[in-house]
Amino acid sequence: MNQANLHKALWWTSEDNGFVKCGLCPRYCRIADGKTGFCAVRKNEEGVLYSLSYGYPVALQIDPIEKKPLYHFMRGTRTFSLGTLGCNLYCIFCQNHHLSRGYYLEKRRYEYYSSEKIVELTLRHGCQSISYTYSEPTIFGEYVMDIARLAREAGLKNILVSNGYMTLEAAKDIAPLMDAANIDMKGFSEDFYMEMTKAHLQPVLDFCEYYNSIGGHLELANLIIPGKNDSPEMLDAYLNWVESKLGIETPLHFTAYHPDFEYDASPRTPAPLIYSIQEYAVSRGFPHVYAGNVFFDPRMPDLKA
Ligand code: SF4
Repeated sequence: MNQANLHKALWWTSEDNGFVKCGLCPRYCRIADGKTGFCAVRKNEEGVLYSLSYGYPVALQIDPIEKKPLYHFMRGTRTFSLGTLGCNLYCIFCQNHHLSRGYYLEKRRYEYYSSEKIVELTLRHGCQSISYTYSEPTIFGEYVMDIARLAREAGLKNILVSNGYMTLEAAKDIAPLMDAANIDMKGFSEDFYMEMTKAHLQPVLDFCEYYNSIGGHLELANLIIPGKNDSPEMLDAYLNWVESKLGIETPLHFTAYHPDFEYDASPRTPAPLIYSIQEYAVSRGFPHVYAGNVFFDPRMPDLKA
């Protein structure tokens, strides 16, 4: 990591005894001098908070936009996707833990990608959008915003693929720059969030409702873990919230889980379970409900439609 390129963070305040308090996500970490916050990529250096991940994506790829997943936004296009190390949740079933639980090593050199470079690469590869994705874009919010502003000037769209665990203060800066978002709902209870992600559900709901209120295109994804977040009660509570707060037209993606990282107490999600949840949501009147990580989704919209 090149110390010369360390980027001063936004959304923090000074505290007594050299501590800083980060206000980017609802953890509000109090960070001592020389230490990083829970996400491992925001560091207090002599009373100033820096973003260690700014300019240092470790995953760069071109994806079909449907992979985000977004089925009702710029269908059939490719999106330039980037992610950094670190995450502000601790999902014990994380399917991306090589990124989310990673951290930047001081002695290792990482390639620096300026915001201009990301936009240039996007245009050069013929993509029409940039996706902030893979691990958790909230924790590199400053980088997201700087790229997103340049991307808009270049006629590109911006896509947030996130756990939605961000303070409203930060969301009011970041979300208006996003043309579309897919928010990964982990389950629909505080108990599930605390046990399985070491976080809270309510801030995620607040983020979704805020983003919806400013007119952003929003789709939701749920990883279905058998026996943990697939009860009829939890599903109904989730659908009730979507219908009442976001609208029944909101596209919903239910995706299959496989045992990973620290959690293997639930078996791989059987495809019939995903299909039965899909059909139940459809029976309740939701028109855009999709199955993910299964062999075949009979409801996936036709590209030509
Ligand atoms: S973004 Fe990171 S440092 Fe800031 S409050 Fe969240 S976990 Fe803590």
